[in-house]
Amino acid sequence: MTFGQVQGQARAERVLSGMLESGRIPSAVVFFGLEGVGKSLLAVEFAKTLLCRSRGGQEPACGLCPDCLNADRRIHPDLAVVNAQYQAALLEAEAAKQKSLRVDTIRHLRRDMEMRSLTGNWKIAVVEEAHTLETEAANALLKILEEPNEKTLWILVTSQRERMPRTVLSRCFSVAFAPLPAEVVAAILQRRGVAPERAAAAAALCEGSAGRALELAAGEYPQAFHAGPLAAFQAADRLPRESYLARSEAEAALFAAAQDLRLKHLQGALPFARVERPLRELQRLRQALRSNADPRVVLTLAGLAVQDACRAPGSPL
Ligand SMILES: [Zn+2]
Repeated sequence: MTFGQVQGQARAERVLSGMLESGRIPSAVVFFGLEGVGKSLLAVEFAKTLLCRSRGGQEPACGLCPDCLNADRRIHPDLAVVNAQYQAALLEAEAAKQKSLRVDTIRHLRRDMEMRSLTGNWKIAVVEEAHTLETEAANALLKILEEPNEKTLWILVTSQRERMPRTVLSRCFSVAFAPLPAEVVAAILQRRGVAPERAAAAAALCEGSAGRALELAAGEYPQAFHAGPLAAFQAADRLPRESYLARSEAEAALFAAAQDLRLKHLQGALPFARVERPLRELQRLRQALRSNADPRVVLTLAGLAVQDACRAPGSPL
């Protein structure tokens, strides 16, 4: 398998290789699967293979020609990678506030995709978080997909395919991405400088998502809950002021804490009787957070639940 640095996605790579070998490239594909398993990475690698003129559309892309280098730097004129940053630049707004893809973005893309490639090559749009397309944006995209231009490729990337309109999905060739094996995740983390032990622990907790594992390895939870009797309150005090940032940090902390309890139970460090109630509590808090509960309160209660579980006689702190 030869699509750049992508790992653990042999099946998806085989599907894409098959397209290249047969010369039958659909005008729209949807890459779906858990977040952080290499979907966007493989989308850009696939685009590079089509754009690389020194290899003439055969895999692997050379990785050295101007087409490949410009695609890597996201400045290739025939490749648009659409995400919050892209939309923010277009609307002259803040990237962190781009929570959905707007119709103006799709209209802009349409004009871009309709322009003939200067090199007579492919025009490719990679749309990340495609499930965040607003209704009007999805309708605009649907119109484009119904009458595709020649040598244009739309790659829609999503971790929540069930949230995408069926009308759009019905126009796309689906490519499934699998959760990554723990050893692949651990290797990815170690290449990014995470110490082997921490990499292995995060890999065991991440449910096959390298993205989540990186967050877990970089994050301070659940360790921060064990930093003394006031740790749960102190953690809440440290949350960012912006509520959307506080919310996402609290959500990551709840996930890390729950996974850590599950792992401790699996390793025999905590009996089921000790983790059952805290896990139920963490689940309840996760739901409360989604229904707009105060992230500070949620994080404090989560910290107390975790401390409660680990304070059992004979169990490690
Ligand atoms: Zn190249």
